[in-house]
Amino acid sequence: MERTRRQSLIEALRQGPMTLMDLAQRFKTPVKVILEDLEHIRRGLKGGARLVQADPECLACGFKFRGRKHFNKPSRCPRCRSEHISAPEFHLVAEGGCRQENPSS
Ligand SMILES: [Zn+2]
Repeated sequence: MERTRRQSLIEALRQGPMTLMDLAQRFKTPVKVILEDLEHIRRGLKGGARLVQADPECLACGFKFRGRKHFNKPSRCPRCRSEHISAPEFHLVAEGGCRQENPSS
């Protein structure tokens, strides 16, 4: 059975934090499409699994973009106007229902 790109995306996100660029390159898919996939995956998550987005950070002044609702990369820093923003990283975290074989201590 062939897996869809979204299923493969979920697998990749389970393995560790990935940026949009990482995912776009890995799946040879435009970032815009990856964003749509991530939104779709987030809506479809069940059993306490969460799609976690690491806070992007301004590389010039250290400003953190906390609690963002959107997955796209911020274009510029509201504090210093720099456009050097770190790419947000995504990670799929399973909670509850899905037991890990190697629980980290
Ligand atoms: Zn800044």
